[in-house]
This record gives sequence, structure tokens and C-alpha cells, in this order.
Amino acid sequence: MALSISKSKFLAGLQCELLLWTHYNARDRIPDPGPAQQFIFDTGHLVGDLAKRLYPGGIEIRRDRPDGRPDIPATVAETARLLPQRKPLFEASFLADGRYVRVDILVPADGEAWDLYEVKSSTQVKDVNLWDVAYQYDCLTRAGVELDRLFLMHLNNTYVRRGGLDVQALFAAEDVTTEARERAPLVPGLFDRFARVIAGDEPTVDIGPHCTSPYTCPLRDRCWAGLPEHPVTEFHRVGKKAFAWMAEGMATMAEVPADRLSAVQRVQQDAASSGQARFDAAAVRSWLDSLEYPLWHLDFETMAPAIPLFDGTRPYQRIPFQFSLHVQDTPGAEPRHIEYLATEPVDPRPGLLEALRAIGPDGTVLAFNKTFEMGVLDELARDFPAHAAMCADLNSRMKDLADIFRRFQVYHPDQKGRYSLKNVLPAWTDLAYDDLEIADGQAAARAFLQAVFPEAAGLDPASVNEAGKAKVLADLRAYCGLDTLAMVKLMEVLRREAQ
Ligand code: SF4
Repeated sequence: MALSISKSKFLAGLQCELLLWTHYNARDRIPDPGPAQQFIFDTGHLVGDLAKRLYPGGIEIRRDRPDGRPDIPATVAETARLLPQRKPLFEASFLADGRYVRVDILVPADGEAWDLYEVKSSTQVKDVNLWDVAYQYDCLTRAGVELDRLFLMHLNNTYVRRGGLDVQALFAAEDVTTEARERAPLVPGLFDRFARVIAGDEPTVDIGPHCTSPYTCPLRDRCWAGLPEHPVTEFHRVGKKAFAWMAEGMATMAEVPADRLSAVQRVQQDAASSGQARFDAAAVRSWLDSLEYPLWHLDFETMAPAIPLFDGTRPYQRIPFQFSLHVQDTPGAEPRHIEYLATEPVDPRPGLLEALRAIGPDGTVLAFNKTFEMGVLDELARDFPAHAAMCADLNSRMKDLADIFRRFQVYHPDQKGRYSLKNVLPAWTDLAYDDLEIADGQAAARAFLQAVFPEAAGLDPASVNEAGKAKVLADLRAYCGLDTLAMVKLMEVLRREAQ
């Protein structure tokens, strides 16, 4: 069968030729999309379907095979049949000179020309999107389609929902005709090169910044598995320098001369070489002395629906739906646990704000990475002015447990250069997130949206039953509860070791 390179494979080739080769020659090495990736796909479909509402009377072209996969020849043939009708077309498909593309929306323009719209669920145009449109332009031009203007349509982050969804205002269409046409002449050369890569032996490609940009590569775990223990990529804020050092033959932290490292990176190097943690007892004592009891260990969980669900909110605005609070009246005292979790498909913020009043007027509010909690409280104050004084008070009393770890005043080599709660907790205590169904904030946001607002997650509401929802809510309680219990346990470690 003649080679055809779809738009997504062309973009994969731009990111990495090994990734491209693997798609065609060793597909089984590429893991199926996990829940996070699937959620992104579902959001994309949701946004794509909404964009179609802007063109009433448009014709959906996709044809599927009996196994549910797209029937490319049938869709291409149907596209050719429908083009003369001069109506907006959704998912029109073209195969020309080995290029295969499916266009989100084609709209009749003047004369025989068409305007092309590529719909993205993001809120801004990225460089890779311009290549996306350039490839479509190259393919459609070869297929004999006259294109007038080329647009990237994305969510408008200045849109604020008031009442029903205003689909017109929800989207922003950026005319990228000039930028995409400028790139289009480069496409044939790249296409030919990619065709040779696909037909050739497995290419050798070093790991590098391209493994995570513009997308996290699905082969990352596989390609990065060969790194030694404590590799140079583990250095704090090392960026591209790590790959330059690797090119010089330095693979481990220990191999990099100390005079090329920052103070924090030297702490890491010492810890990795000796296997010993760093604990700056004086700094910890001074920080502990700045706290006032009762100590309110606070953690929020938020979701960020692409399509605003509530009045006054924008695309991807973070909406807190849960908090956990462990309260300790005196150092070492048994903590009390207070929590809030929204369970119904209504705006969770009013209920959460009322529940936050459980935090008394005295004592320090402790967060781990307080920028996040303070930001959430600032946004709540903005959107619910009646609670602004409480939010301001909580923020004025907030301290950050992560500071000690962020400054590497306390550092364990098992943290592997990171200081998130997920890395710090197992390094310093016998607690970890491994056994939890929900083990990070993004998974929590996803699970909540899918269980409580399934349509906003691009799911069929019938796919969520009460038992499934109850299980998700229980998992969310376990996860958020551990976030603040983790802080209590870390405080115990700090107090003990600082004595
Ligand atoms: S992990 Fe990096 S080197 Fe490996 S295929 Fe992906 S982008 Fe290429």
C-alpha cells in the first residue's frame, strides 16, 4: 500500500523522527493513551462539536468502518461528492500525494474558494498549530481545493459566561493565512524526509528537550529508562544544560564539576553522592518558630472546565470543589479533620466558602505551595465579594510548608530533585500516594468533572451511575485528606529532626 502521512504523524515527525518511525514500524511500543490523554481528547471533541454550532446547515462527513475506526477512502470520496454543494463541511477529508488530512471545518468563501478552520481546545495559538495548518494547506492545494483564508479557532479566554452559553463569543478565530502559507513551501521537503525515515532503519535520536515539547512524547518512559541513577536531568532547574552535559559525556550528577553547579544543585550532588539527606536544623527551627497555633493545614482541589459552567466564569477558570483541613491546636497534638466536597452538579464555590468558615480567627494557615491556595482564595474573593474579608484574612495568615523544601534546606536524595508533596512525603515518611486511585491534582480534577459534570468532560451522562460516582467521591476524599495529613506528618519530621 502506498505510504500516507496523516497530519498527526507529520507533527510527530517534526517533534522527533524516532517517534515518527515508531508509529509506522513498531506501533506496539506506543502505549495506549492513559486517562489524562483521553481526557484531553474528550475535551477536544467537546470543543470541536461546539464550534460546529457556529455553522448551522453544515454537513458532517465522517464515515466509519464497522470497527468504529474512520473509513478514510469512504470519507475522502464523500468529501469529493459534497464539495460542489458549497455548504460548510465538518471533517472533510483529503488524500493527495501521500498527504492525508481531515479538516475540522471548511466554509465556502468567494467564488470557488474555501476558508479553512482548525479548531483547538486551547486558548491561544501555538507554533505547532501553524505547522498543522500549513500541512493542511499543502494537502488541500494538491487535492485541487482553492483556499482563501486559514484560521485557527480556539477558546476565547476573555469570554465570561452570563446565562446560556454564547458559542459565538466563546470562540476566537485567528487568521493565520500569512504564517501558514509562509511555512507551506517547507512541507514537501519535510514530507520527503519523513517518508525516507519511515522506510529506513530505526533512527538513533538522543533524548532532549524535544521529548516534552511541544507534547510529552508517549515514548518518554521507554527512551529515558536507560538513564543511570541520579542522572544530570535530575538537577534542579537544569533545563537544556542537562543534555549539553550528557553530550559532553557526563551522565550522572556526580560527574559534573561542582563549579558548574548552583548552590542548590551542589546540595543535590552531595546528597546523591553520599546517600545522606540534608537537614538545616537552624533554618527549620527559625521557620517553625514563625508559626502560630492552632495550625490549619489546608489544601484545595480545583477543576478547570474548558467550557465555563457557571455565571461569571471563563474557559479553563479554576473552580475549587473540595478542601481538606487538618487542625492541630498545639505542636504534636492529635489533629482534627474537617473537609468539604461538592457532590451535586451546581456551582461548588458558595458551599465551599461557607465550609471554610470552620477556620478560626487565630493561628497560621499552612499550605504546601501556598501560591496555589492564595490564588484560589483571591479568585473566590473577586467572584464572591461577601466572602472577600474572610479570604483576605486567611491569605494574610498563610505560610508555606514547601518553602523549606524549595530552598533545599531540607532535601533527601530520594526526592530526585523535586519538592512536590508527592516526592517529599515518601522520602521523609512511610506514607505515599501509591495505593490511591486518585494520586494527583489533575486526576482529581478530571475524576470530579467526569463524575459530577460528565457532559462538561465530553462524556455521555448515562455513562455515570450512582455507585461509580460514590466511588469517585470516596477516592477524592482519600486523596485530598492525604494531602493535609501529609503536611501534619512532615511537620512531625521537621520538629523531631530540628531538636
Ligand atoms: S522520548 Fe524523546 S527521543 Fe524518544 S521518541 Fe520521544 S521525543 Fe524521541
